[in-house]
Amino acid sequence: MERYSRQLLFPQVGQTGQEKLGKKHVLIIGAGALGSALSEMLVRAGIQSLTIVDRDYVEYSNLQRQQLYTEQDAEERLPKAEAARRRLERVNQSVRIESIVTDATPEVMEPLVKEADLILDATDNFETRMIINDLSQKHRTPWVYGACVGSTGMCLAILPGKTPCLNCLLKAVPVQGLTCDTGGIISPAVQMAAAHQMAEALKILVEDYGAVREGLVFFDLWKNDYQQFKTRKMKKDSCLSCGSNPEYPFLKRDNVTKTAVLCGRDTVQVRPPQRMKLNFSILARQLIQGGYQVDGNAFLLNIQGEGKRMVLFEDGRALIHETKDIQEAKSLYQRILG
Ligand SMILES: [Zn+2]
Repeated sequence: MERYSRQLLFPQVGQTGQEKLGKKHVLIIGAGALGSALSEMLVRAGIQSLTIVDRDYVEYSNLQRQQLYTEQDAEERLPKAEAARRRLERVNQSVRIESIVTDATPEVMEPLVKEADLILDATDNFETRMIINDLSQKHRTPWVYGACVGSTGMCLAILPGKTPCLNCLLKAVPVQGLTCDTGGIISPAVQMAAAHQMAEALKILVEDYGAVREGLVFFDLWKNDYQQFKTRKMKKDSCLSCGSNPEYPFLKRDNVTKTAVLCGRDTVQVRPPQRMKLNFSILARQLIQGGYQVDGNAFLLNIQGEGKRMVLFEDGRALIHETKDIQEAKSLYQRILG
C-alpha cells in the first residue's frame, strides 16, 4: 500500500476510503483535455476500473492541453480512447481500463451507466450532457459536470435524489454558457476544472457525500474571478429528468443528431443510419482504385480526395474535415461508402 501512502494519510480518505476507491468503477465520457486529466488522476488514485468513451482521434492541436497524448499518438492518429488506455495502463497496471471508440449515444451509454458507480462528464457538447443527466437519474448514478473554455471553467456535482439535476438548472444558472466555443483555451483552465471535478469525484467514491459541494462553481483564471452559485433550492418536482414523474426526455426523444458539426472545428461528423462493421482492407483497396489516397491504422482509415480529408471508423462513423457544410459532408460520405 506504499503506492497510496500519501492518500491514506489524508484522513478523509484513509484506509476505509482507499478500500472503497479500490472497488469503484468510473465511466468517463470524453477523452479530450478534461478526460485526460480526470482519467489520469482516477487511475493514480487507485480505483478498480475505468471505462473511457470517446469518438475522436489524437491530432497535433490536442497536445497543448491533452496531457495523456504524445506526438507519436498524433502521428499515428490513434483514437483517443485507445491512446488513453495504453498510457493509463503504464501508469497503474492494477486498474482495469476499457476503451470504447464511439459516439456517446443513449444506446451506447445506458449499459455502461448501469455498471458504473460514478459518471464523469468530459464532453464538449450540451446534448451529451443532457443524455448523461437523464441516465444518471434513471439509474441513480451520481455524475459530475465539468466544462472549460478560454480561461474559464465550471463544475457541478449531481447526486440523484439529493441535489437538483442539470435539467432543473437550465434556466437558472449559466450552465449552457461554456459550450461549443471557438475562443481557444489555455491549459490551466482545464486543470482547474478537472481539479474541481476530481475533488467531487473522490468525495463521492469514498462515500463522503456530506462533503460534496452544493452548487455550481465558476472561475476565470485570467480575470481572477471565482464564483459559487447555490443551487440547493432549485430542485423542481416538475422536472422531467428528476421530478416525481420523470420522462427522461433526452433518452426518449429521437433527438440524437445523426450528422453534426463538431464543436469549434471545421469538422462534420456523419453517422451511418444503422450500425455496421466495415472491412477496412476491402474498402481501402476500392478507394485507392477510385483515386483516393488512403492510410490509417487498426482503428480508422484516413482518406484524402476531392479536396477533403475524411477519417472513417470501423463502425461506419466518419469525421469530415475542412468543412462545416452538412450536405457537402453527407454527399462525400455517400460517394465514399457507395
Ligand atoms: Zn431535475
